[in-house]
Amino acid sequence: LFITFEGGDGSGKSTQLDLLVAWLVEHGHRVLTTREPGGTELGDELREIVLHSRGHIAPKSEALIYAADRAHHIATKVRPALESGEMVVQDRYFDSSVAYQGVARGLGADEVKNISLWATDGLVPDLTVLLDLDANLGRGRLTASRTRYDRLEAEEQEFHDRVRAAYLEAAHAEPERFLVLDATQPVDDIATEIRARVSALLA
Ligand code: C5P
Repeated sequence: LFITFEGGDGSGKSTQLDLLVAWLVEHGHRVLTTREPGGTELGDELREIVLHSRGHIAPKSEALIYAADRAHHIATKVRPALESGEMVVQDRYFDSSVAYQGVARGLGADEVKNISLWATDGLVPDLTVLLDLDANLGRGRLTASRTRYDRLEAEEQEFHDRVRAAYLEAAHAEPERFLVLDATQPVDDIATEIRARVSALLA
């Protein structure tokens, strides 16, 4: 089972991911927890470049760095885990690229998705949890918790509004794959809904 978490910055993805993984492990599942960008040695180097490089990165170059990270991560870490029967729970996947680079940066949702499908030999998650939150609220939560500069902080509010709209559109197009949750709900309520959906998939 391959589960991904998506949402704007500050939507609580990582908190919910950790809660789900703890619950799965308690129930005896073998789980690989990973993230993008990053998750491998090369990925961490690419993450450093794509998020912390101070200079300008041309939009197509940015999209291809994410795709390069993804190709390596899926081939060397995620697929081997899935093939060995482990569950994989991952923070961000190609829906992030479609929303951030495809839609918010205007490179084209279909083009960016196709690059990812090529990069991963067509690996699509069994479930994608989307934590939906007003972009302004999310960024407010982040400023309180983040210590390190990231290039995305320089983006206008409208960029993050476009990300949110793009996520909702992706979820609307694939209702079977997505579980969309209101990220303003209490943490425990969100966790309960995620567990219910995952239990149904495991049944
Ligand atoms: O939330 P996380 O730490 O995973 O995200 C890292 C940063 O990368 C965030 O600022 C996010 O908006 C950005 N990102 C992006 N395009 C992607 C994936 C992540 O701009 N495809």
